[in-house]
Parts: sequence; C-alpha cells; structure tokens
Amino acid sequence: MPLFDYRCAACGHQFEVLVLRGKEPEACAACGAARLERLLSLPAVKSESTRAKAMAAAKRRDQAQAKDQAHEQRKYELSHDD
Ligand SMILES: [Zn+2]
Repeated sequence: MPLFDYRCAACGHQFEVLVLRGKEPEACAACGAARLERLLSLPAVKSESTRAKAMAAAKRRDQAQAKDQAHEQRKYELSHDD
C-alpha cells in the first residue's frame, strides 16, 4: 500500500497518509496549513503497529539501561563508603 509520511512545515505535525492514485494530502491534519513535506527518508510502508512495537522495545531497553546504571552507581557508593 502506498503509505507516505508527511510533516507539516507550519506546526511540525507528522502523519501517515495512504496515497491513492497519486492523490496527496493538501493540508495538515492538525493545523490545516498547506505546507506539507513528504518524508522520503522513512520507509514508505510502515504500519502503526510495527511502530508501536519498536517504541515499546526502545522503552524497555531504556528502562533496562537505567536500572543497570542505578545498580552500578550503588556499587560504586558502597565500595567508596570509607
Ligand atoms: Zn500543521
């Protein structure tokens, strides 16, 4: 499916649009400005569900790292307590 990511040059709102028969969106879904840029650097086909999964995975990774860092900090404090 021809899904494209667009970004509004006026407010920065990003959204995906299913472009059928070359009919591109004319206005930002958030603010209505007609200054849209198609984001070519992103994969053209990308569902919301895969994006949500990727974000959830990144969040879990960040939390694991934060936990590790807290643990290392605690070890450091304990070993330098005298
Ligand atoms: Zn906008």
